Amino acid sequence: MYFGACPICKKTDGCLNIGREHWFVCHEHKKRWCAGANLFSGWRDEDESVWQENAEQIKNYEEVDPIYDPS
Ligand SMILES: [Zn+2]
Repeated sequence: MYFGACPICKKTDGCLNIGREHWFVCHEHKKRWCAGANLFSGWRDEDESVWQENAEQIKNYEEVDPIYDPS
């Protein structure tokens, strides 16, 4: 829960990197929230085409405030 979860289902489908930004998503409810930038080193192994794909995938998702407490 450290990086938050979807406010509706309290879950996350994981993280997509767009450049050095880390976006967590819920695909079911089309929500996204930014966990920060340059927290994980993985983004360095990806390139522009991956980020573009990720950006495309979540561009219509609503940006929300995630929940951090599952109860
Ligand atoms: Zn959800």
